[in-house]
Amino acid sequence: MTRPHHPIDSTDTLYLGAPDVARIVARKGLAACIAGVAERIHADFLRWNEFDKTPRVANHSADGVIELMPVSDASWYSFKYVNGHPKNTQRGVSTVMAFGVLADVATGAPRLLAELTLPTAIRTAAMSALAARTLARQNSRVMALVGNGAQAEFQAIAFRDLVGIRTLRAYDVDTGATEKLVRNLQGRGLDVIVCASTAEAVLGADIVTTITADKQRATIITPEMVEPGMHFNGVGGDCPGKTELHAGVLRASSVFVEYEPQTRIEGDLQQMPADFEVTELWRVLAGQAAGRTSEAQVTVFDSVGFAIEDYSALHFLHDAARELGIGDFIRLVPQMTDPKDLFATIAASSDIQRAPARSSIATISA
Ligand code: NAD
Repeated sequence: MTRPHHPIDSTDTLYLGAPDVARIVARKGLAACIAGVAERIHADFLRWNEFDKTPRVANHSADGVIELMPVSDASWYSFKYVNGHPKNTQRGVSTVMAFGVLADVATGAPRLLAELTLPTAIRTAAMSALAARTLARQNSRVMALVGNGAQAEFQAIAFRDLVGIRTLRAYDVDTGATEKLVRNLQGRGLDVIVCASTAEAVLGADIVTTITADKQRATIITPEMVEPGMHFNGVGGDCPGKTELHAGVLRASSVFVEYEPQTRIEGDLQQMPADFEVTELWRVLAGQAAGRTSEAQVTVFDSVGFAIEDYSALHFLHDAARELGIGDFIRLVPQMTDPKDLFATIAASSDIQRAPARSSIATISA
């Protein structure tokens, strides 16, 4: 197999479709991909101020949302297209689907076009575990996992490897989803305890991950479920009108976020007044702000997913594809001998060359 090589003056784009991305993950191993993406997110969060950032652009509809997530630094621009349609699974379609682009800032040329559904699960799990490694109690071994859908196994494996979780207390309103989780995690070094309710799942947990999908103001976690020292990883409340944590849970906690302007709109934080205090996680990672300050403190990572995480994942994929020789170069945009002669790219086509018998508007509309 020939290794894809990017000619420096070429505007061809490396294309990684879903089978290519799945092959990259299979060849490198899921655990290595999660660890690799976590390392990149960590490094990119440490250079937070080098990025040109903006909250994502969301188009809402009755049953879902479609979002564009752009970000750039001096060298690279990236965006992700992602949707969230909780009713999709009833029609046999994923709740979340995504693809994204890495482009060269110097020229604007798109360098990578990649499927990002699987990488979204990987980067979300990597981000969650990175936050928990910083915020949860050091000796956390038991995690409640509420919502056992497409993202769930990735969260479980990330928390096993990066945080040291050994026991999962799993709950989903759909028992079939939990059965799938149990099946997929067999032999992967985690004890999975199937629970009959969120309250039961949360009992005795050090960390609580909520990753449910429902386009409504849900209160999956209520204040009476909170125990001193718990860490909450709230992942499913990521859209206006879509929450998982009761406001009282946030009031009882120290709340950490990715990018504050976006989380104020989309996170569980949307329920709180504009002056409710939160800390951006990058500041904790950079040693500029405190994370957990006591064993009894309750911490919340109000995750919504931020564009830098996809920038990091796209770079991980770009490097892995070139290392493994996976993917194809496609001509997404035209390549021209004379860059001012765009017309030449169509001049050869037969219907352009054929002169119409009469070229009046009257002829066309007749
Ligand atoms: P999914 O539809 O595959 O799974 C969601 C699961 O939640 C389903 O199994 C459903 O039965 C369960 N559920 C719904 N309501 C519940 C409740 N009240 N109690 C328990 N379980 C409940 O979706 P997914 O791809 O796993 O994504 C889950 C959520 O995570 C979505 O809302 C998505 O938008 C969000 N998400 C966030 C990020 C981020 O970065 N923060 C990234 C990816 C996905």
